[in-house]
Order: sequence, then C-alpha cells, then structure tokens
Amino acid sequence: MNNVRQCRRCRKLFNYVASPYCPRCIDEIDREYRVVRDYIYENPHAGIKEISDATEVNDRTILQLLREGRLELDSSAGGLSCERCGTSINTGRYCDSCQAQLSSELRQAQKSIAGDAIAATNREKKFDRTQKNRIKDDKRDFNERMHSRN
Ligand SMILES: [Zn+2]
Ligand SMILES: [Zn+2]
Repeated sequence: MNNVRQCRRCRKLFNYVASPYCPRCIDEIDREYRVVRDYIYENPHAGIKEISDATEVNDRTILQLLREGRLELDSSAGGLSCERCGTSINTGRYCDSCQAQLSSELRQAQKSIAGDAIAATNREKKFDRTQKNRIKDDKRDFNERMHSRN
C-alpha cells in the first residue's frame, strides 16, 4: 500500500513512513542539526541569527529544531520566544508558566469532556427507564383490553 506524501521541506513526493520529511531531507536535517548543535556548544551565547549566519543553516530550520526541543539555546536572548506570551525562552514552544497553564487548561478540558460523557450516559439511562416503563404500561393496557373483551 503506497502512502505518498509531499515532503514538508523540499516539497518532493515520497513514500510516507513516520516523518513529514523525505529520507533525503531527514539526513540533511540531521546533518544541519549536528552543525548547529556543535556551534551552540562552542558559542553558548549565540542567537538564532548569528548561528544561522555562521553555519549557513536556514534560521527557520534552527527555529524548528528549537521548537521540537531537539536543540536548546544557552542564552534567553537568542531570539526564541514563547508562542503564547512572547517571553524569551531557550527551547520548546512555551515558557514554563505558559506550559503549566496550558497543561492545567488541558486537564480542565479533559475533565469537562469526561463530565459531559457521564451526563450523557445518565440521560440515556433515564431515557431507557422511561422507554421500559412505557412498554410495561402498553402491555398492561393490552392485557386489560383483552380481559375486558372476554
Ligand atoms: Zn525532502
Ligand atoms: Zn509564555
């Protein structure tokens, strides 16, 4: 079964396995990742722009590696910021406080979804009961009618 996708990076079509990138780009990103990682190691206070200029790795690739948490800047002035509040961060997508807030919001959302599900089951149960009672009533009516006819 062929699962052909377009590579997110070079836009070429390839057989999808697990990554949004084609095998050639995966190798390329790995190579760039190592170059950037080594550069940050030697220049701990470098920012994204400086790293990009020095390594000739696209700043968007660097940003993505940082967002994915594969790379970490040593300096909070490196040019990476929280996607939610804009605070300077070293790696990932959100600052610590936004991260905490988001995960508690997520828990809340999950809880209310669970609550809705319970309410829905309760409604169904109630519905079931009324249905059954009605069937019972119908049967009684029928029996009474039969008896009265006799
Ligand atoms: Zn590609
Ligand atoms: Zn934040």
